Amino acid sequence: MTIRTRFAPSPTGFLHIGGARTALFSWAYARKHQGQFILRIEDTDVERSTPEAVQAILDGMQWLGLDWDEGPFYQMQRMDRYKEIIGQMLDDGTAYYCYSSREELDVMREQQMQAGLKPRYDGRWRPEEGKILPPKPENIPPVVRFRNPTSGTVAWDDLVKGRIEISNTELDDLIIARADGTPTYNFCVVVDDWDMNITHVLRGDDHVNNTPRQINLLKALGAKVPQYAHLSMILGDDGQKLSKRHGAVSVMQYHEDGYLPEAVLNYLARLGWSHGDDEVFDSKQFCQWFDLDHITPSAAQFNTEKLRWLNAHYIKQSDLGHLAADIRQRLEDRGVVVSEHPELRSVIDLYRERVHTLNELADAIAYFYHKPVMDVAAREKHLTPEIVPVLQALAEQLAAIDWMPEQIHAAIDHAVQSNGLKFPKVAMPLRVLLTGGAQSPGIDAVMTLLGKKEALARIHEGL
Ligand code: GLU
Repeated sequence: MTIRTRFAPSPTGFLHIGGARTALFSWAYARKHQGQFILRIEDTDVERSTPEAVQAILDGMQWLGLDWDEGPFYQMQRMDRYKEIIGQMLDDGTAYYCYSSREELDVMREQQMQAGLKPRYDGRWRPEEGKILPPKPENIPPVVRFRNPTSGTVAWDDLVKGRIEISNTELDDLIIARADGTPTYNFCVVVDDWDMNITHVLRGDDHVNNTPRQINLLKALGAKVPQYAHLSMILGDDGQKLSKRHGAVSVMQYHEDGYLPEAVLNYLARLGWSHGDDEVFDSKQFCQWFDLDHITPSAAQFNTEKLRWLNAHYIKQSDLGHLAADIRQRLEDRGVVVSEHPELRSVIDLYRERVHTLNELADAIAYFYHKPVMDVAAREKHLTPEIVPVLQALAEQLAAIDWMPEQIHAAIDHAVQSNGLKFPKVAMPLRVLLTGGAQSPGIDAVMTLLGKKEALARIHEGL
């Protein structure tokens, strides 16, 4: 059997973290088993679906590297197929027309509730042997209802949650086509999963309640029922349901905030799934390891610190050319033009151990390409009147040397020794003058990259 999974987002917003994890797990399961991963856009809610949201979903998946083998299929383009199946079901008696008006149904519900019953469709238009249906009213376009079994149970072995069983008496006859003929949500999902030969449905557990209805429909169609794995929801750092309040819930927001896709993917992989204590692995490794047995049925909690830690890890080991292309863009977005000197890759290499995000990296190195923004407090603290003559003398010495790290270091050392100072006494004000702040990697390395002319100009200007 070829494993076929799908990701079936409704394009009503960006690709959020929960959706991205569902996509990732579905993708990885197909990849692990040399199966196929299908992308289906569930756009039948025309009020809320937008082309921008479709694009945001495609962008998010591409950014994460989740490639699909078939699709994207759009449900709105499959209307004829849904109508064809509805016609067949009406013919074979697994569905029927219902002419109950809205008012009539409201009255029915009201009466049921007053009698202490759960409100549900009472089957008044459901044909039965020997039953006489009400006379067809004129001018009421009927809906189509599915003839749900009235006895027995519908059960499945959820690959995450274990066995789930629902009594059919809990389920009433679902509307599968509205009065205007358009098919309803659960019905479209069923026809698609069937037509697309989906073997494993991985989706958020907000869909658990739909599953018994979908299974009954599939059975009525004579379709093979796929296996289901319902993924628990993701909570925010604070233990509440993940929402906009938690900031970056859109995958592309993470891109904007300076996260690498490798880090986000690695992070998402560990949200509710584990492989022993392994925390750091790439997507290839994930596809080899991924299984459904190690998905936790309990809710996963988002941990921004851990994501930042992973991001720092990937920034450290990412290809420099790749990082440079990204950082160049981020600097440009900040109005900083990257010149040829110092070489961006070398600057990144000097700084990448020190940051958690690409935005931090861009902010930290911007001073190489434009005049630093002075941290006034740091300047006041480190650039004391006593140190000014020391720095002046040092500047003269620096002007005379070959611009190499060892020579720069030796010149600073000389200024330190000959004035009976400690190294930071000289290095800190230099930092402030050259970088605008008191934090930087080794000052000789910074000066080397900055170049002799620029370094001396900044020292002179600042003194
Ligand atoms: N379109 C549904 C959603 O975005 C998913 C349906 C499914 O996976 O069956 O929540």
